[in-house]
Amino acid sequence: MRSFFIILSLTIFASCSTHSNHEAAVGNPREYQVGAYLWQQTSGEYRALVHQAYNIARERVERDLEDKHNRKRAVIFDIDETLLDNSVGGAQEINLGLSWKENKFNEWVKSRKASAIPGTMDFVKFLVERQVEVFYISNRALSMYDDTYANLVSVGFPVKKENLMLMGEVHSKEGRRQQVLKKYDVIVYLGDNLSDFPGGFEKTSVETRNALVEKMQSDFGQKLIILPNPLYGDWERALPSDKSRIDLLKITP
Ligand SMILES: [Mg+2]
Repeated sequence: MRSFFIILSLTIFASCSTHSNHEAAVGNPREYQVGAYLWQQTSGEYRALVHQAYNIARERVERDLEDKHNRKRAVIFDIDETLLDNSVGGAQEINLGLSWKENKFNEWVKSRKASAIPGTMDFVKFLVERQVEVFYISNRALSMYDDTYANLVSVGFPVKKENLMLMGEVHSKEGRRQQVLKKYDVIVYLGDNLSDFPGGFEKTSVETRNALVEKMQSDFGQKLIILPNPLYGDWERALPSDKSRIDLLKITP
């Protein structure tokens, strides 16, 4: 009889907690992102994809170093979700039930607590050893410069201050890429967002960015190395804002 009451109590407790989780989820404007955050923070598949990207990048650089160049070589990195993992900051916002408009990214950057994405450190150190110049081109605002530099250095990235290029008045990264190209041959570009790459991806529609990817398909895994980012990206900006996300799902074959 005692075990019956224990089982009954556990069942009631379980159903209550399921109910309260469900209610919290319904009221949370970012609930739809929980799966994406869990995937980045816990899945072996995420880690495997990141290692895959960095292994390809390393192979590309090793192959390039076998050739003679008249100019110095460089690799251009994006920062967020390419070298630094910000998922804890976003997860804190979701846990507080905050919407995107209420996001606390500035506070997160100031905390300098982003961690290095697996596999990145070894690759960056390999580049430095082989005298390949490392550039960090990010659309974090210039006001975040000191915190970004400190966060990168604190997790171990070798950063030259002049090679950390954040966003001034111009959103596009193309001008900053061109500055690097004036002096260096860029072997590969690494990013989690298509606008981290040359090719005109900025401010384009869903259809245009997909068409551009098809047109440039042979560049991926060669000159352009993309990292997985299920959390956010310009792909969201390309979606129409007057529709709920569920209405945008393709549900017919
Ligand atoms: Mg990024």
